[in-house]
Amino acid sequence: MADRRLLWQLYPTYLIITLIALLAVSWYTSGALRTFHAEQTAINLEARARLIEGRFDGLWDPAHKDSVDALCKQLGKASATRITVILPDGKVLGDSQEDPARMDNHAGRPEVALAPGRQIGVSTRFSNTLQQEMMYVAVPVVEDAVVLGTVRVSIPVTAMDRTLSGIYLRLTGVGLLIALMAAALSLLVSRWITRPLEEMTLGAQRFARGELDRRLAVVGSAEIAALGAALNRMAGELDERIQAMARQRNELEAVLSSMSEGVLAVDNDERIIRLNRAAAKLMAIDAKKAQGRRILEVIRKVELQRFVARTLASHESEEGDIVLPSPEGERYLQVHGAPLRDVQGEDIGALVVFSDVTRLRRLESVRRDFVANVSHELKTPITAIKGSVETLLSGALSEPQTAERFLGIVARQSDRLEAIIDDLLALSRVEQDAEQDAIALALGGIRPVLAAAQQACQPSADEKNVEIRLFCSPQVRGRINAPLLEQAVVNLLTNAIKYSPAGGKVVVDAAQLGDQLMIKVQDWGSGIAAEHLPRIFERFYRVDPARSRKLGGTGLGLSIVKHIIQAHGGQVVVHSTLGEGSVFTLILPAVG
Ligand code: ADP
Repeated sequence: MADRRLLWQLYPTYLIITLIALLAVSWYTSGALRTFHAEQTAINLEARARLIEGRFDGLWDPAHKDSVDALCKQLGKASATRITVILPDGKVLGDSQEDPARMDNHAGRPEVALAPGRQIGVSTRFSNTLQQEMMYVAVPVVEDAVVLGTVRVSIPVTAMDRTLSGIYLRLTGVGLLIALMAAALSLLVSRWITRPLEEMTLGAQRFARGELDRRLAVVGSAEIAALGAALNRMAGELDERIQAMARQRNELEAVLSSMSEGVLAVDNDERIIRLNRAAAKLMAIDAKKAQGRRILEVIRKVELQRFVARTLASHESEEGDIVLPSPEGERYLQVHGAPLRDVQGEDIGALVVFSDVTRLRRLESVRRDFVANVSHELKTPITAIKGSVETLLSGALSEPQTAERFLGIVARQSDRLEAIIDDLLALSRVEQDAEQDAIALALGGIRPVLAAAQQACQPSADEKNVEIRLFCSPQVRGRINAPLLEQAVVNLLTNAIKYSPAGGKVVVDAAQLGDQLMIKVQDWGSGIAAEHLPRIFERFYRVDPARSRKLGGTGLGLSIVKHIIQAHGGQVVVHSTLGEGSVFTLILPAVG
């Protein structure tokens, strides 16, 4: 039934109702018509009997039998009616169709039986005489209150039926016409009722597909129009709710994806409900593909799997550290897990948030290394000083030559200690100021800075007979912190002189190239092997520690240079070939 269209349910029903009504009316009409026709025929026959009864006056006697019979035959022929004249005792005097002598006594005939009581008798029955269905009307003939006899007229029922069949035929024709019209009309009405419903069904199917922006036409009867309006209202509300949900989801998505912490939500079966961008990146997986899959299949990090399982099992907040191997070295994650609860407070899974603390851990280790390095750097001169002092105290003071040698060691090592502490202080000052943005930059000429640095280094250059050449146009200007930049250039010059052969040369030149200001310090000294280049800016890193120490280096010079230039918004680049020399370039942003 479900797949039958409403039209094909309504239409046949209408049609059947119409046909039943039509048949009932036809049946009733034909019955009424038959009765009416029979009544009319009876009245007609009575009138005929009355009309002819006078012709038999004075003939109501068996003696006039022949005359009566002849008259019956004559009148019967003329009126196409059977006429029978019957005496009160039932004897037939004359008959238009039969010989009365051969006819039996008619006193018992139903129509005649009534005649003596002066009543008209009507009867429709089968005639034994004529062997067919006849309608009889018998009229009593009364004279001076004496019944003389009965005149009975009759016609065959077939004649009546013929008249009726003609009428029935026409009635059937009209009935068929009405039936056809009713069929067409029912179809129209059914369509008229079902069309708005069909349109509404299509509209509802559109809603179901999610096309909620289109509305249904509110047409048809009041009920259907109300249904259409209700569906439209429902679509509107649904649309609003879906949009609100989408908005909320987008907001949540935006919040989650802009978080630098990784967020992972899993259900009780350890299936991934949600994974934000940071988490996907940390785990090196595709967030979309991971959705809905079990954590075991997607994230092959045993430590994390264990942590998730622990959080799910404990139903409480958990914290921990996880180390993940990665191509760039180990990654340290700090993980925080909490049970995920629905509105009813039921545990539906776990939420794990992890932050990448690799940088923090590396900084911690750098700091640890730094402290170890500083201690080590300080320990060497202090051990030397201590040793010398102990030797002096244990009697060397009395030997002037030995005493002088040991005091010389104490003086050198003290200088060294001072140099290390000066450099450490300088470095920490630059770092601190840079962190607090406390390094003031001002527009100024570069040449005076370079000249001052040259001047500061001139004594040590002269000592080694190294020539310092300076090339810088007085127009070259930059946003600089003059004392700090001077210190950076001094450090570079010191190194250049230190690692140049005696009688060598060092060139300092500065120029503006496009939007960059370049300060170059070049020497033709020992140069640096390629494998050391990436590390020489680290604190305390030395290519050859013993030689550096001998030359009075602290291993902090280039580190200080790097920090000073970074505070200027620039960078240091080094090009060096072992045995051929080095070029250190300070690249600063140019002005204007
Ligand atoms: P140091 O006090 O030992 O010179 P730096 O930080 O200034 O420390 O330099 C780090 C290392 O880089 C030095 O030990 C040295 O080996 C190398 N280096 C720096 N400048 C030069 C240069 N101009 N020529 C050759 N080697 C250099």
